[in-house]
Amino acid sequence: MKHGYEVLIIGGGVVGCAIARELSRYRVRAALLEKDADVGMGASCRNSGVLHAGFKYAPGSMQAAVSVRGNALMDDLCRDLKVKMKRIGKLTVALDAEDEPMLDHLKEQGEVNGVPGLEVIGRDRMQQIQKGVEGRRALYSPTSAIISPYNLTIGLAENALANGVDFHLGQKVTAIARQDGRWEVRTAAGDTFTAGVLVNAAGLFAADVCRMAGITGYEIYPCRGEYYILDRRLDGTVTALVYPAPKKNAPGWGTHLTPTVDGNILIGPTTEYLADPEDFACTTNIMARLRRDAQRLLPGIRMSDYIRNFAGTRAKQTPPEVGGSKDFVIEDRKDLEGFINLVGLESPGLTSAPAIAEMTVGMVKNHLALDPDPAFNPVRPGSRDFFWELSPEEKAERIAEDPDYGEIICRCEKITKREVLDAIRNPLGARTMVSFKYRARASMGRCQGGFCIPRIVRLLRDEFGWNPEDFLKRGADSPMFVGNMRPDKGGQAHER
Ligand SMILES: Cc1cc2nc3c(=O)[nH]c(=O)nc-3n(C[C@H](O)[C@H](O)[C@H](O)COP(=O)(O)OP(=O)(O)OC[C@H]3O[C@@H](n4cnc5c(N)ncnc54)[C@H](O)[C@@H]3O)c2cc1C
Repeated sequence: MKHGYEVLIIGGGVVGCAIARELSRYRVRAALLEKDADVGMGASCRNSGVLHAGFKYAPGSMQAAVSVRGNALMDDLCRDLKVKMKRIGKLTVALDAEDEPMLDHLKEQGEVNGVPGLEVIGRDRMQQIQKGVEGRRALYSPTSAIISPYNLTIGLAENALANGVDFHLGQKVTAIARQDGRWEVRTAAGDTFTAGVLVNAAGLFAADVCRMAGITGYEIYPCRGEYYILDRRLDGTVTALVYPAPKKNAPGWGTHLTPTVDGNILIGPTTEYLADPEDFACTTNIMARLRRDAQRLLPGIRMSDYIRNFAGTRAKQTPPEVGGSKDFVIEDRKDLEGFINLVGLESPGLTSAPAIAEMTVGMVKNHLALDPDPAFNPVRPGSRDFFWELSPEEKAERIAEDPDYGEIICRCEKITKREVLDAIRNPLGARTMVSFKYRARASMGRCQGGFCIPRIVRLLRDEFGWNPEDFLKRGADSPMFVGNMRPDKGGQAHER
């Protein structure tokens, strides 16, 4: 089939979805193409969920500009899209005398970048912010925050869709050509899409998309980070983000504890360069190392607190022998009319997404006159978590209106049948078990779906008439009941 648009976005990660949502403020025919069965299946839902303040990046760099602006945009955005976000602040800790000059350097750099409220604080203040934290001094950044990366990516996509952007899931772009002054994009599904403006937001595959358009000189080096997720039992033990002061040219921040907005704690991420950008497996030796680190960082942790592991891959532009990281590329190609290119958006791409979207739409305006759409509605419908956020009276009222609120499907996370049904009937039409999990949180608790997955399967069979072959975990290559799952991708820890 052939589809014509004014703007086409390749990639439904947080950046592509933020661009789609920003474009939906205007009267424009726009669409997003995503190769996977849902948005956010790449790095965007496989990360620490931290909104960085923006002090780590060199003044004048793209990373500094978009992280500081992105962070500042998040309060309004999260309110409008019903995204969970908490401004818990961060301590960047000097563990020894050698680390101390780094704190002053980061504070100065952050102030040049426009980061508000930075302070270097002593041990007592540090311990008031996070009980038990060890170290000599710390840089305190009050605008650092935690956010639900799934809520954000899905919220942006759903609001863009509601405001008129088309989403084409399961559409892997395989070829790009210039035809009669327009971009012509072909997909593995056999469809053709044309547009005057094409945006490359393909994350780990951005360099491949560049090559399809005839752009050379970009390379992505996938760098995996593995994590453990800890049970809600430990909710409240980590009250702020605590990171060790960074070492020069280190590829990441080192192992640290990150609380999530849902009451879990993440341990990780590690750094390991890989050939396959989508090898999301966790490995036994790294898991053992994370457990040792966790024991040191959080004494009192029990073996039964480790409920799950996962991995995400950073789209680095620097090879392992160079290390460190390179600045984001956000460019309106002068040599290719209407080609907007986003490459190497490794961390802090989650934080920066709304600002990258503003910048990208500014570039779209170089090619198209965009008139504001008076019908644009920034607010996404949605309600608070039934179990965790409503009072007993509000719960009783809801159940009286809709008895599906009275049936718990996920016992660990206390998710009701109504919430699961809403996730199943999501507006993007995503139909995998992971899509339902990211929307309703069912199966994210300590039993990891032992209780709720059979109930969700029954719901899908009874209410929607699904057959065994319709049940997919993440997409077409991961059938749940018929055929074989793709090996080694996102499974449990294994020997390496
Ligand atoms: C371990 C880890 C921890 C991180 N922690 C943080 C953090 O705490 N805070 C922070 O700000 N950032 C963090 N990041 C970075 C952040 O996750 C990324 O910068 C961000 O998700 C990048 O978003 P994206 O949309 O560019 O890429 P992706 O999420 O990778 O999205 C790209 C999309 O393009 C699609 N695609 C690719 N090729 C094609 C094609 N040919 N056709 C159609 N679709 C295609 C992919 O399927 C994918 O959905 C972390 C990253 C990792 C890996």
